[in-house]
Amino acid sequence: MPYDRWPLSTPGAALSSCLRRDKEDRATNAHKFIFGPVRSGRLGLSLGLDLLGARICTFDCLYCEVGPTDTLTVSRKPYIPAARLLEELAAVKAAGCGPIDAITLGGLGEPTLNTDCGAIIAGAKELFPDVPVAVLTNSSLLSDPQVRRDIAGADIVLPSMDTLVATEYRRVNRPHPSMDLAAIRRGLLEFRSGYAGRLFLEVLLLAGGNDTEENLELLREFCRELAPDRVDVVTMSRPGAHPGAAAAASEVLVRFRQALGVTAPSPAGEAFEGHGPAALRARVPAAGQADDLAARIAASVTRRPQTAQGLSLALGQTLADVQAALDTLERDGAVRRERAGEEIFYSG
Ligand code: SF4
Repeated sequence: MPYDRWPLSTPGAALSSCLRRDKEDRATNAHKFIFGPVRSGRLGLSLGLDLLGARICTFDCLYCEVGPTDTLTVSRKPYIPAARLLEELAAVKAAGCGPIDAITLGGLGEPTLNTDCGAIIAGAKELFPDVPVAVLTNSSLLSDPQVRRDIAGADIVLPSMDTLVATEYRRVNRPHPSMDLAAIRRGLLEFRSGYAGRLFLEVLLLAGGNDTEENLELLREFCRELAPDRVDVVTMSRPGAHPGAAAAASEVLVRFRQALGVTAPSPAGEAFEGHGPAALRARVPAAGQADDLAARIAASVTRRPQTAQGLSLALGQTLADVQAALDTLERDGAVRRERAGEEIFYSG
């Protein structure tokens, strides 16, 4: 059903209780934590929810597209309270922004750090009963039974597991010191055993980082146990957070895909779609700002480096309009360009 034709119904119990809480945190400006909709290879047209509002993560991955993690933590908190996010989501629904295939919990880091993620899932489902709710996660907190319970209500969970080799894990994912790879592995398996929804596993490979035979063998065994509904093996296609991160070779990707039983084509060929930030490409314009393309582009590339073509697709604008806005922003010093292989990426 087209997004703008969904009726605005009376909020149900979960939504009402969230809307009552944290009134002081409510929006002063609309659409601060909701992005898109954006096209995702795995989810279709997806509306992204930012549950963190800042670069807060349990990892500081070499390849992260939104830059180094500012707050490396395992502390769970209502970083963006459910009441705040659901109020914004209700406003987006009321404004209408076209059809969507999924609502995706992500953010500028690890969304399960937000203790309100279960309430946000429940509230999103009340607002959009016909739209699947998805969660992007780096899997790091799934060893916590409460986190597993919190996200069990999602229709799709997209966990990542880049390596099961401890040295590679520390080198590539650069976790919080308290994180334990074996516990994460067990947590993901435990989540799978009690989860009724669909599970899409993602493995991101870096050249010289985790593209080893040892990792391939461990992941092969793990996938047999986990039995995900889908596996994607990808590599970075944009500048990462840290210099030295390099994309894995095509033949390595092919070898891992064959070993892990990848059947579906990976999103955008070999490209990383991201754990959280990559799902949040385009800011939904507030009322009256729909034509402010430059502001939307500036907001979007601040969160994630993108090409002009990517922005054009995500924002539904012609390439010529997007390029003109980018040129103006670059002249004003609001964005900068960076070449990665054959492509030019813009960042805030
Ligand atoms: S890629 Fe994902 S898990 Fe890694 S630092 Fe960025 S947000 Fe965190």
